[in-house]
Amino acid sequence: MTTTGALPERTQVLVVGGGIIGCSIAYHLTRRGITDVTVLEQGTLTCGTTWHAAGLVTQLKATHSLTRLATYSARLFEELEDETGQATGYRSPGSISVASDDERWEEIVRGATMAELSDVETEVIDLDRVRELFPLIRTDDLVGALYVPRDGQTSPVDTTIALAKGAKARGARIIEGVAVERLVAVHGRVVGVETEQGHIEAETVVLASGMWTRHLADTIGVNVPLQACEHFYIVTEPLDGVETGMPTLRDPGNHTYFKEETGKIMAGFFEPRGKIWNLGGIPRDFSFGTLPEDWTHIGPVFERAIHRVPALGECGLQLFFNGPEAFTPDGVYYLGETPEVDGCFVAAGFNSVGIQSAGGVGWALADWIADRHPSIDLSSVDIRRVMPFQGRPEFLAARIPESLGLLYAMHWPFRQYESARNQRLSPVHDRLEAGGAVFGEVAGWERPNWFAAPGQERVYQYSYGKQNWFEASGAECRAVREAVGLFDQTSFVKIKVEGPDALAALNEISANQIDVTVGTAVYTQWCNERGGIEADLTVTRLAEQEFMVVTAAAAGTRDMAWLRRGCRGYEVAITDVTDELPMFGVMGPNSRALLSELTETDLGNDAFPFGTAQHVSIAGFDAIAMRMTYEGELGWELYVAASDAPGLFDALNHAGRPHGLRLAGYHAMNSLRLEAGYRHWGHDITDQDTPLEAGLGFAVAWDKPSFRGRQALLTQREQLRVKRLIQFRVEDTETLVYHDEPIYRDDVLVGSTSSGMWSYTEHRCLAMGYVHDESGVDQAWLDAGRFEVQVGLHRIPLTPSIRSFYDPGRTRVRM
Ligand SMILES: Cc1cc2nc3c(=O)[nH]c(=O)nc-3n(C[C@H](O)[C@H](O)[C@H](O)COP(=O)(O)OP(=O)(O)OC[C@H]3O[C@@H](n4cnc5c(N)ncnc54)[C@H](O)[C@@H]3O)c2cc1C
Repeated sequence: MTTTGALPERTQVLVVGGGIIGCSIAYHLTRRGITDVTVLEQGTLTCGTTWHAAGLVTQLKATHSLTRLATYSARLFEELEDETGQATGYRSPGSISVASDDERWEEIVRGATMAELSDVETEVIDLDRVRELFPLIRTDDLVGALYVPRDGQTSPVDTTIALAKGAKARGARIIEGVAVERLVAVHGRVVGVETEQGHIEAETVVLASGMWTRHLADTIGVNVPLQACEHFYIVTEPLDGVETGMPTLRDPGNHTYFKEETGKIMAGFFEPRGKIWNLGGIPRDFSFGTLPEDWTHIGPVFERAIHRVPALGECGLQLFFNGPEAFTPDGVYYLGETPEVDGCFVAAGFNSVGIQSAGGVGWALADWIADRHPSIDLSSVDIRRVMPFQGRPEFLAARIPESLGLLYAMHWPFRQYESARNQRLSPVHDRLEAGGAVFGEVAGWERPNWFAAPGQERVYQYSYGKQNWFEASGAECRAVREAVGLFDQTSFVKIKVEGPDALAALNEISANQIDVTVGTAVYTQWCNERGGIEADLTVTRLAEQEFMVVTAAAAGTRDMAWLRRGCRGYEVAITDVTDELPMFGVMGPNSRALLSELTETDLGNDAFPFGTAQHVSIAGFDAIAMRMTYEGELGWELYVAASDAPGLFDALNHAGRPHGLRLAGYHAMNSLRLEAGYRHWGHDITDQDTPLEAGLGFAVAWDKPSFRGRQALLTQREQLRVKRLIQFRVEDTETLVYHDEPIYRDDVLVGSTSSGMWSYTEHRCLAMGYVHDESGVDQAWLDAGRFEVQVGLHRIPLTPSIRSFYDPGRTRVRM
C-alpha cells in the first residue's frame, strides 16, 4: 500500500497520526460517508507506539460503555480481512485472570458481572482447568480464576494496515513522512494545520498523535495532559509446554501478563510505579524506536512473574523490550472535542489499551464528528474532564508513575491517589485537618471525605465492604439528619454570567425557567437537542443582569465549555469565581437555629423560602446565603470571600457545637443525597439520559416557548416511559454496590446500577439505576416484579422505588 502523495490544500477532516487510532478513525469516518479525510503521519504508519504492542484484545473494562467499545474492536478485527483483503492476525484464544487473595478474587468476579451487560461470555474455572489451559502456571497459592473464552490477540501492525486500506479504498488520503508543526485556530475554532510542507485548511482536526499529543495540542492552547512512560515486556526462547492457542494469562497481583507467541512466552509488566520518559517532549524522529533495558527497574517484577510461571526462571530470554506509551493522570484515555477549541478532537493517551480500544474508539469518534455528539455515554473518557493544572509537567511527573502502576493494582472503591496531591486547597484546609479530615482529591481539590474519630488513624483501609470510615461517616450522616452538619463545599464551581443578554442566553440553555425574581435559585438541567442532560446545576439570579451558576467540581471544565458555546452570539461576560468564593453548607434541622444566632436576617420560612438567596451579614462577614440542599435537609449554602472564609468557618464551628454540629465530609454527602434521591451527573445522569427518564421532569419549564432540547422532550413526554431511573434498596445488611451491577426483574436483565452508597437511615445500601421495559416502566411494573442485583457471584434482592427512600419533603414539615 503506498501512502504518500501531494498534500491537499484543504480537507474536511485532518487526522494527525498514523497509528492504530488515527487509521481507525479514518476508516470509520469513511464508513460514515465522510470521505474527504487526510491522515498525516510524520514517519511511517505504526512507527510510534503501535508497532511494538503486545496486541492483547481484552473485552471487560471498568464501565459498560468502555466494554462495548472493546467488544466492538474484537468483532471488527475478526471481520476486517474479509473487507480489505489484509489479514489482521486476529485470533481469540481467550484469557484467564487469576487471583491469589480473596480481595483480588472479589475484584475479578465483581468486574465479571459487567460482562452480562455486554454479552461477554465468562466462566469461573477451577485450578485443574487453569493448568489444562495454561500448563506452565503455578497454582498452589491461587484462590480463583476467571476465563473469558472469546478474548483475543491481534497483530497491531497488520490490523492498522487493514484499517488504513479500508479507509483508503473509500477515498481517504494517507500521507506519510510529513509532520504537523502546529495547529491553527481562529476565534476559538480550528481552521487547519501548518506542516513541514505547508498549510492545510481543515474543518475538523483530530489529534491521534499518541505521546506527541500534549505538545502539539499546546500550540493552540488545548490541554491534553498525558505523558510517555517506559513500558516493558520480555520474550523467552522457545519453551516446552507452550502450545499455540494457549489463552493469555493475567496475574494482576504479580503485575504481569503472559502471552503465547509462536512457542515462546511474552511476559509484559505493569510495575507498581512507572518510569517517565522525556517529560520535555518526544523527538520528531522517534520512529520504530526502542529504549534501553532496565533490569534494576523491572527485576523485582520479573521475580514475581517467575513465581507465577517458574519456567521463566529457567529459560533464556530472546528479547527484553522497552518502548514508550502515553499514560494519563487517571489511567483513562481522552476522546472528544476539546473544551477550548471548536472542531479540534482528541483520541490519545491510551494507557496501554490502545490496540483493543482502537476499533470502538474509531467508531465512537467518527459518530461524534459526523453527528456532533457521541452516540453512547462516553463521559468517563471525555476530554472535558481534564482540569487546567493537570497539564503542568511537574504534576504529570509526579502522578503518571502512579497511574501506570494502578492499572494492575486493586481498583478499590474510594481509592485515592497518593501522588501529586495538594494541588488546590480550601482556605479552611488547616481547620479541616485540625478537625480530623481525611482528604480525597477531586479536580485537584483536597476535600474532606470523612472526619476520623479522636485517636483513629487517618488513612483508608480499603475493602469492597464497609471500610474503616464506616462508623465515622455514619456519625456525620446522623448529625445532618438529626442536628446539623458543616460541609466545606469550596470545590463547587461557581461561574458568574453577567450582561444584557445573560437572561436570554441562560434561558435558552436551561430547561427550567431562569426568568425569576432576583434572589431566586433555580435547579435546572442543560440539555442537548436530543433532550439528553449535559449538565445538572443551579442558576441563581443575583441581580437583573447577573447570575451565578453553581456546579460540581468535576464538571467544571465541561459545564464551562457548554456555557461558553451556548452563549455565543449573546452579549454576556462569563467569569469563573470558584477560587474567590468559598462555600460552606450548613445542613440539618438545627441549621436555622444555629444561623439565626449569627445573623440578623430572618431565616424563617416566609422570609427565606427554599430556593432563594439573599445577601446577609453572618458573624460579621458578608455572604450570599442560599436556601438549598443536596442532602435532603433544611439548610443554607453560604458563599463568602476567600479572605473571610476562615473567620466564618470558625464562627459556625464554634456556635454550632451546642446545636450538635459536626464537620461532615463528601462520603456522608454522597450517602445523604442517595437517600434523598438526588442524582449525580456522570453516574445517574449523562448526555444519554433525559430529564423525563431521570425523573427530573419537574425541573423542566414546559411552558417556556424555547430552550435547547425542548422539542425532543415534548415528543418524549407523549411516549410510553420505557427507560426510567429507579431507586433501589439492597436487601442485605453487608453487601455494598457501587455502579454497573446488573439488575434483574424475575431473572430477566432489565438494567444496571448507576451509583450506590450505604444508607445509615435504611441500614442497607441504596442504589440508583436505569431499568428498561418496552411495555413501560411504572409503579405497577415495579410492583409486579421480583428485583435482584448481581454482585460478584451472588444475586441479592432489591426493593425498587420511584420515590426516594428518604423524603426530602420532610424538611418542609420541620420548617
Ligand atoms: C510494550 C507495549 C505493549 C502494549 N501492549 C498492548 C496490548 O497488548 N493491547 C493494547 O490494546 N495496547 C497495548 N499497548 C498500547 C498500544 O500500543 C497503544 O495504546 C496504541 O498503539 C496507541 O496508538 P496511537 O495510534 O494512539 O499511538 P501511536 O501508535 O504512537 O500513533 C501516533 C502517531 O502519530 C504520529 N505523530 C505524532 N505527532 C505527529 C505530528 N505532529 N505530525 C504527524 N504525525 C505525528 C506518530 O509518528 C505516531 O505514529 C502496548 C504498548 C506498549 C508500549
